[in-house]
Amino acid sequence: MSASINCRTEAIVLKSIDYGESDRIVTFYTLDYGKIKGIAKGARKSKRRFANALEPFSLLQLNFSRKIQSGLDFIETCDVLTHFPAIRSNLDKTLAASYLLDLTDKFTPEQKKSEPSYHLLHHFLLLIENKPFSEAILRLFEIRLLGISGYAPVLDYCLHCKAPLEDKKRYFFDVAKGGLICNNCHHHYPDAIPVSPGTIKTLKMGRELDLDNLGRLLFSVQSADESRRILHDFIIRILGKDVKSFRVLSDVTRA
Ligand SMILES: [Zn+2]
Repeated sequence: MSASINCRTEAIVLKSIDYGESDRIVTFYTLDYGKIKGIAKGARKSKRRFANALEPFSLLQLNFSRKIQSGLDFIETCDVLTHFPAIRSNLDKTLAASYLLDLTDKFTPEQKKSEPSYHLLHHFLLLIENKPFSEAILRLFEIRLLGISGYAPVLDYCLHCKAPLEDKKRYFFDVAKGGLICNNCHHHYPDAIPVSPGTIKTLKMGRELDLDNLGRLLFSVQSADESRRILHDFIIRILGKDVKSFRVLSDVTRA
C-alpha cells in the first residue's frame, strides 16, 4: 500500500461529473494546492456524507487524502462555507459565475498552487453574489486572470515600433502579437482590431486597481463592446478554442 497524506484547505468547486455507479469526480480550485481533481466515493448514493456540497460554485472547507504520484485525490469530507445563493437564483449571475469557473479551469494547471488565482476567483464570485450583474465584472476578471497566468496583454506601447502610448494616436489590438499596434505600424497587421484610448485606459485601470475598488470601475458602452471583442478573441487565440460558457452567456444577455 502506498503512503497517503491528509490535506485540508479552502476550495471552490469548478465542476463535478458522475463517475461509475455511485461516485463523482470533482474539480476544485483550492487555496493551498491549486487546481485539484478528486473522487468522492459514494457521493451519489449517500446524500448524507456530501449533501449538496459538491455542486459548482460551492465554497468549502475540504479534507482530502493524496497518494504520492496519483493524479486523483480522495475526497474525505467537506463543510460548506457558502453556496452563493444569489448566484444560484439568478440566471445572469449563474451564467456569469459559470464562465469564471470555466476560465479558471482552462487557464490553470493541475496541482500548482497559486494564491492570486484563488483569491481572484473567490473575490469575483463575491462581487457577482453581492452586486447587480454587470458585464464589466467579466472583463475585469478576464484581464486579471490573463495577467496572473502570464498572458497580460501589452497596453503601454506599440508592439511593432515600441513607441510608448500617446494620447492622440490611434491604436489597434493584435491578438496574435498580444497587444497594441499604433496607427503607423497598422499596415503590418491588417487584422488588428481598432481600440479607442478610453478602452485602453479602462483596461489598464482594471489591471492595476486594488481588488476592493474594482467593483466601482465603470465601462462606457464603447469600452464594453471593444473590450469584449479584444479579450474574447485574445482568449480564444491563447486557448486554441472557443469557450462554450462565453457563447451561452452572450446569447442569454443579448436576448
Ligand atoms: Zn508602432
